[in-house]
Amino acid sequence: MAGGALPNCLICGSDLVYATKAEPVTCALCGKEEMGTTTCEQGHYVCNDCHRSGGVDFMHKLCVRSRSKNAIEILTEAMNDKSVYPNGPEHHTLVGAAIIAAYYNAGGKINGGSMTKGAALSELKVRSLQVPGGACGFWGCCGAATSAGQALSIINGSTPLKKQQWADCQRLTSIILGHLADVGGPRCCKRTGFTAVLDATDFLNEHYKGHIEKPEKVTCTFCAGNKQCLRNECPYFPTKD
Ligand SMILES: [Zn+2]
Ligand SMILES: [Zn+2]
Repeated sequence: MAGGALPNCLICGSDLVYATKAEPVTCALCGKEEMGTTTCEQGHYVCNDCHRSGGVDFMHKLCVRSRSKNAIEILTEAMNDKSVYPNGPEHHTLVGAAIIAAYYNAGGKINGGSMTKGAALSELKVRSLQVPGGACGFWGCCGAATSAGQALSIINGSTPLKKQQWADCQRLTSIILGHLADVGGPRCCKRTGFTAVLDATDFLNEHYKGHIEKPEKVTCTFCAGNKQCLRNECPYFPTKD
């Protein structure tokens, strides 16, 4: 398994159970009490903050120092770190950060050139931390797609009052969500992350003078960490031609 990360429950490693209705839960790591839908088979609950803080911090530092123009390469490097779990809300930051870093490293201008890479990554972090785990299944809007939408809106300076920038953000997330729906569930933060980054790469290169590089083919090396892997139905499964 990549990075030696535990599958599923961070406390005991057992499978997660997703309820269809939120219940009062207590984080096994920090003791926070809140409403939640996701516990493990043994009843452990880990809050979004505890699950993602290590991965989010790692990604911020990686993206600040990285000179890579290839967003898939940056994303994969983060996914290989032990702070990033097979699935989890840290991916809601990873996707957009990889896009911003690669776009900037390839000469792209953020908000007309008024924003540094570090400032853009900090803004992405603020926005992406608002998207909880399970948004895909519970909201109908995968966190990888929203992360790409956040990255584009930071790059093009979108706000709720903009015209074309606003439209472009909805366009990109709708393209991504369409591709995710074509494949179907169950959730996999690697599969959705790759799709979101590839679609955002194409979109920025076509419409925002991007020169983001991408690999000829994306092959997932994280299948063993996801019991619900779609295997041959997944476009990134290793045996796929
Ligand atoms: Zn557990
Ligand atoms: Zn916690």
